[in-house]
Amino acid sequence: ESGLYIVATPIGNLGDISSRAIEVLRGVDLIAAEDTRHSQRLLQHYAIDNRLIPYHDHSDGRSQDRICELLAAGGSVALISDAGTPLISDPGYRLVRDMQARGYMVRPVPGPSAVIAALSVCGLPTDSFRFEGFLPAKPGTRENSLRALADEAATLVFYEAPHRIADTLQAMLRVFGGEREAVLAREITKTFETVRRASLAGLVDFVSSDANQQKGEIVLIVAGQVASDTTLDAATARLLRALARELP
Ligand code: SAM
Repeated sequence: ESGLYIVATPIGNLGDISSRAIEVLRGVDLIAAEDTRHSQRLLQHYAIDNRLIPYHDHSDGRSQDRICELLAAGGSVALISDAGTPLISDPGYRLVRDMQARGYMVRPVPGPSAVIAALSVCGLPTDSFRFEGFLPAKPGTRENSLRALADEAATLVFYEAPHRIADTLQAMLRVFGGEREAVLAREITKTFETVRRASLAGLVDFVSSDANQQKGEIVLIVAGQVASDTTLDAATARLLRALARELP
């Protein structure tokens, strides 16, 4: 069927692709990819032989023009990113908006995304979460962003680069306090998959004492402000109840 397909691809384990995703990638007239060399290897793995062009939200309009022409002629195009779901901290926003504005069908072919995979095993409340993507790289700006989140009740989810993880955890410890629960989800679906839930103080120790924990791809999840109240240790909770009884 004609239209633009937004196709999710694996975040590590190559088994994590849907049969519909493979079918769509084989059937479309053109595949637009964030990095064509990277995606070529992926497509080879599934024996998908199709035309690839690069697409970035900030690239010149040529790729977008080509996609438009194909859709106008009743063709079909798939958008993929290097890993996971396009548009989730990845290119595609401008393309989706523009194609919808021109009246073309845009259809999702859902599949892996690191944010959802990490949430599903984090052991923190997931009924309400706030996905923040990547924090700003500059330490001052990053700390300001964290401060703006300090009172957020929803579970917080971040993507982080390995070379910044130690500094980011330190900043989180300063802003949220060492008691706040957090989860490091690293290399999900890959050989060195690690899911570690601890207090922020505990996670700082865990990461600073083992350089291997500062490698690979990382999702960082932090309990919301309210959720952390429910994890008070028993003695503190007793004390708070006793104090509450004394209140007028
Ligand atoms: N679109 C992707 C998605 O749906 O998850 C995310 C793309 S973003 C440019 C890449 C970031 O996602 C990494 O820096 C890391 O924070 C996270 N990520 C991707 N794959 C991961 C994995 N296997 N384990 C942990 N985090 C991962």
